[in-house]
Order: sequence, then structure tokens, then C-alpha cells
Amino acid sequence: MALNIKRPNGTEDVTPKNISKWHTVERIVRSAAAGFGFKEIRVPTFENTDLYTRSVGETTDVVQKEMYSVIAKDTKFTLRPEGTAGTIRAMMQNGLLNDAMPQKVFYILSCFRHERPQAGRLREFHQFGVEMAGSALPSADADVIALAYSIINELGLKNIQLKINSIGCPKCRAKYHEALKAYFESRKDELCDTCKTRLEKNPMRILDCKSPICSEIASNAPIILDYLCEECSDHFEKLKSYLTALEIEYTVDPKIVRGLDYYTKTVFEFVTTDIGAQGTVCGGGRYDGLIEELGGNHTPALGFGMGLERVILTMENQGIAFEEEEGCSLYIAPMDENALPYAMKYANQLRNEGFWVEYDTVGRGLKAQMKYSDKIGAAFTMVLGDNEISSKTAKLKNMKTGEQIEIALDDKFIGSFSDIAVSEMFSGVLE
Ligand code: ATP
Ligand code: MG
Repeated sequence: MALNIKRPNGTEDVTPKNISKWHTVERIVRSAAAGFGFKEIRVPTFENTDLYTRSVGETTDVVQKEMYSVIAKDTKFTLRPEGTAGTIRAMMQNGLLNDAMPQKVFYILSCFRHERPQAGRLREFHQFGVEMAGSALPSADADVIALAYSIINELGLKNIQLKINSIGCPKCRAKYHEALKAYFESRKDELCDTCKTRLEKNPMRILDCKSPICSEIASNAPIILDYLCEECSDHFEKLKSYLTALEIEYTVDPKIVRGLDYYTKTVFEFVTTDIGAQGTVCGGGRYDGLIEELGGNHTPALGFGMGLERVILTMENQGIAFEEEEGCSLYIAPMDENALPYAMKYANQLRNEGFWVEYDTVGRGLKAQMKYSDKIGAAFTMVLGDNEISSKTAKLKNMKTGEQIEIALDDKFIGSFSDIAVSEMFSGVLE
């Protein structure tokens, strides 16, 4: 059999050429999360399968079709398909929920789902997500939505629509389920096989089915907003008024139910039409029953997950600039073997001060070294030969202006180089 060591379908490599896109996004989400008081949490890449079947829900696409599970020594594990379940599990297991409420955490992690790979839909993808536990109030919903909104603005994303809905609580959902059942029962024969079983177990899941026939049938189904109990309806009205006060534009979309079972009351999505069919860049909502479902005390909570590949795709398609990585400060070119140890010594002295400094490690001649220094965009080059070593002075060449500055290779070398490099850094700014 031929050896197959290619990247699996639906996964991506990020090479140094592309890493600045990720660094840009990661820096912005981290700084926004900090401003809203969310602290970072890190959780395992895999969990006991039971955690996901219990929280995401038996009848969801994720659990029924998309999980990567393995049996290892009699225990069934699953690669995390989403971030909420593991994060809430960790918050419970580490006692975070016994501390002052609300508890607010964020994460940047990879998720794994066996889906059909296409633009914006991968088998390994990355999410920035947040979870806030301990508040049942709509002001918490507004706060979480405001964080996602502020990130989207900071990133510079355009043409993003916020869609919100309420999917009620178990109380109002009982009546709604009956109405849905009655509706879908009348067209049962046309539903896909998965949805036929969903009709009995969890008719709301049919609303989220991706099959064209089911979604066509679902488009005329009764909507939950007509069935909300007073508490849920009041919660939704307050959230809308807070969003208005925050000057966050939204539309109410009764079709949004979200793909995971644990949601209650508020659900929301930030959607764009600029990246094709997979346009949801961020999705989230409230899940007041989840913590209890997992064996904890009743603790209302909510959060969102933002698909980072989709965010980057949107930025690319909209021509948004990514931050540039810091360039090489200095290339030291030894003229021969004898000069090499000096190049190493000066390079490492500057590296210890935080500069990016390179010298020849592949045995290039002087001309080829200069070409290479140009290729890596070094701000300065410094040639070292017998003369420089014996006179303890060298010339720093500014690669942008061609200007040469003499520099003493004595104990003031580091300080002198810093002064020159810093003034060069700012020269562009002051021009
Ligand atoms: P979709 O409707 O696109 O399948 P979902 O409802 O399954 O999304 P969530 O489970 O809410 O998505 O995940 C939150 C976010 O993660 C999504 O809004 C999206 O940006 C991103 N996401 C989900 N699945 C994928 C995937 N397979 N590839 C890339 N990003 C994804
Ligand atoms: Mg999905």
C-alpha cells in the first residue's frame, strides 16, 4: 500500500507566511476579552464521550454524525466538537462555580467535527469562545453579545448582521413541541430518516436540519416566539432594549435555533454573506439548564463560539489588513571562518536584549549573505572581517537608506545599536 502521509481532508496547516493572520485575530480577541473581564481557561482536547452526548444532545447533528470518538482501554473518549461542554465541566470540577458570580472565562481552542469539508467548514477548526456563569439576567446576555460585537468591530469586519431569537425555556417549549409535532406529523413522509426519529424525541432539531427538503418544510413551521412564557418573553424584550441602548443593531430571526441542545432563551448569530454558504462567524446563547444537567447546582449561564477560520476568511475576502510581524533588526555577515565566532558573540548579545539578529549558518559567501539579508528584510547589516575585529569598529548599513554608520564594537555596542535601531524605527513615523 502506498504510504499516505498527507494532511487529512478538512484540516489546515498554518505556515510562518500566514501566521500573522492568526496573531492579529488572537491579539484582538484576547485584548477585548480582558476589557470585559474574561479570564483564559485551557481544557483538554478530548473528554469522556458522555460529556458531549449529555450536553450537546443525543439528537443533534454533532452527536449523531460529527464526533470523532475512540475507545481506549474500555473507555470511550471524544475529540472536543465544541468548547462549552469541556469548559463548563472544568469550571465545575475546579470549583470556579463556588466563587463570586459571575464567573467569566474565555478560550482559544481547536474543535473536531466529521463534516463535509468546504470553504468555511473544516474537520479541525478553531474557536475563540467565552462562557459566563451565574447570571440569569438579560443584562448578562447583552454583555456577552457586546463583547462579540466589539471584537467584530475591532477586527474591522464589515457586512456582519446580528440575528437574535429566543427559544424559550422547558416551560414554554412543551406547548411549542406539541405544535411542532402536529405540523411535522402532517408531512412526516417527506422528512429525512434522522428527522423522522427527531419528530418523536426532539422536534425542534428538525428546524436545524441541513437537508434541503427538511429545511423547506421547516420554513413554514410554527415559530417559538409565539409560544414564549411571560418570563422568557420579558427576558427577550429587556435584551432588545439593552442592545438598543448599546447601539448594537440586530434583527430578530425566529428561524435561529442553533445546533446544540443545551440552549435556552436567548440565541444569537453574527452572519455575513461575504464568505459563501457557511456565513455564521459567531454563534451563541444562553444555556440555563446545562450545569444542572451535568450534575451541578442550578446555575444560569451563557456564551458564544467564534469560528476563527471564518473570521480570517471574511477578513481576506473584505481586504482587511493583518498586522505585520516584527522584522529582522540586524544581519551580521562574517567575511570568513575567523570572523564567525565574533558574529555569533555580537548576535547573541543583541538577542539577549530582545532584537532579532541573524548571522550566516549555511556557509554563504559575502555577496550571497547580502542577498539573504535583503530577503529576510533585515533593517541593518554589519560586515565583520579582520579589519573590523582588530580596529573594534564596524559599519552598520541601513538597508532602507543605504546610509552607513560607524559603530564601536566595545562594551557600549549594545547601547549604541539600540539607539540607532530605535531612532530608525521611529524615523518612518515622524516623516
Ligand atoms: P454551522 O451552522 O455553520 O454548522 P454550528 O451551529 O454547527 O455552525 P456552533 O457549534 O455554534 O456552529 O459553533 C460556533 C462557530 O464555530 C460557528 O458559528 C462557526 O463560526 C464555527 N464552526 C462550526 N463548525 C465549523 C466547521 N466545521 N468549520 C469551521 N468553523 C466552524
Ligand atoms: Mg454545524
